[in-house]
Amino acid sequence: MYNVRSMKAEEFICHDEVMASLEYADANKDNIELIDSIIKKARERKGLSHREASVLLACDIPEKIQELYELAEQIKKDFYGNRIVMFAPLYLSNYCVNGCVYCPYHIKNKHMARKKLTQEEVAGEVKALQDMGHKRLAIEAGEDPVNNPIEYILECIDTIYKVKHKNGAIRRVNVNIAATTVENYKRLKDAGIGTYILFQETYNKESYEKLHPTGPKHDYAYHTEAMDRAMEAGIDDVGLGVLFGLELYRYEYCALLMHAEHLEAVYGVGPHTISVPRIKHADDIDPEAFDNSISDEIFYKIAALIRIAVPYTGMIISTRESETVRENIIKLGVSQISGGSRTSVGGYCESERPHDTEQFDVSDTRSLDDVVNWLMKIGYIPSFCTACYREGRTGDRFMSLCKSGQIQNCCHPNALMTLREYLNDYASEDTKKIGNMLIEKELANVKNDRVREVCRQNLIKIDNGIRDFRF
Ligand code: SAM
Repeated sequence: MYNVRSMKAEEFICHDEVMASLEYADANKDNIELIDSIIKKARERKGLSHREASVLLACDIPEKIQELYELAEQIKKDFYGNRIVMFAPLYLSNYCVNGCVYCPYHIKNKHMARKKLTQEEVAGEVKALQDMGHKRLAIEAGEDPVNNPIEYILECIDTIYKVKHKNGAIRRVNVNIAATTVENYKRLKDAGIGTYILFQETYNKESYEKLHPTGPKHDYAYHTEAMDRAMEAGIDDVGLGVLFGLELYRYEYCALLMHAEHLEAVYGVGPHTISVPRIKHADDIDPEAFDNSISDEIFYKIAALIRIAVPYTGMIISTRESETVRENIIKLGVSQISGGSRTSVGGYCESERPHDTEQFDVSDTRSLDDVVNWLMKIGYIPSFCTACYREGRTGDRFMSLCKSGQIQNCCHPNALMTLREYLNDYASEDTKKIGNMLIEKELANVKNDRVREVCRQNLIKIDNGIRDFRF
């Protein structure tokens, strides 16, 4: 039985409710009156229920889809302005005991070189990332209680925060590791992590069990209830995601929203971010073997409808996607992107991109400087801001600031100040030139006079060598 407040995975992601919602969506996909009333509700920017949003996803009336894209773009502008937050993944270890059939780290893959970074190597990777200009990382690891126990992950986080190289610093470490216990989530919280990210991969229990035939990840309920344990441990910024291509996208979209509704209903705060990875070629993995792959058009529609259904939730796109797809999807609602990524263990210290331990092929292989330069040319402000969680603006505090629009008074100047740090310390001459002009222009868009003046003073201080200002 569906129960949004239940603590049981099969009740808050109830299969029958997903199926009933998809049936309802099919029955109403041409019901203009209903569609218009849902769009009207979406314009209030308070989000949509999984049923309402599923109707919009099923609708294939071109004018309505166009209307949805325009609304998604507008909501994105209203809540996130033209800022895009930058991050990079850091792969710590590809040892893994799971049997996930889409992932090259699966235990049966005997020809993939297994590697785990020593603390010295972690520091080396962090220096390389700092030298690119990164301030925010997402650490990634396979699941292996012997090779990558929680103690190892905690030690790595400690090392990452301690590396201070030239003007560099990693100021926010997000964590993407396997589902774990409340106790371990508490330890991660105490280590000062930003967001805890865990992709559901698929919400369909039957498919989930087939796609994860062996290992601890096989347990659907344990995996699906992980965010509840993280919340119970006090981590109030959690990141959801689906690996698109594994199951029918409409099922995933509906269930993803049900997961968000569950978190909101039980904890008063929805997910901090939603990631939208699509399955990619990797060692021992042929994406063609998964017959639910989605076209770019459907991918854009999903992104636009995530933006509309959960306006306050950040959306993340990685370098799994090409420059063209990233440009199109950023416009529709993405707020965070990775840049200059290497998905192999130890990859940042190699001069050439290594492929032997890569988790998946990267499509956007440009350097961080190229990505920053490109973002500015297509109208965005790349932001290296990490202020919110360092100022205690997490969970419902973040959400209420976001909902009231107040967050703009912090995010915009913070983006400008952290971009200036990047330009002064790491950028190419061309990027610097474009960036400084952009900062000058965007300063005028800081609405509050006092904030604008403090921001201007801080920019001068940054030029004089002082770092790490934030509102
Ligand atoms: N091992 C952890 C877990 O089980 O959740 C998380 C880290 S894993 C390194 C990060 C994510 O990469 C996975 O959750 C999965 O969605 C994604 N991934 C795995 N194989 C992939 C592939 N072939 N193409 C694209 N993404 C993939």
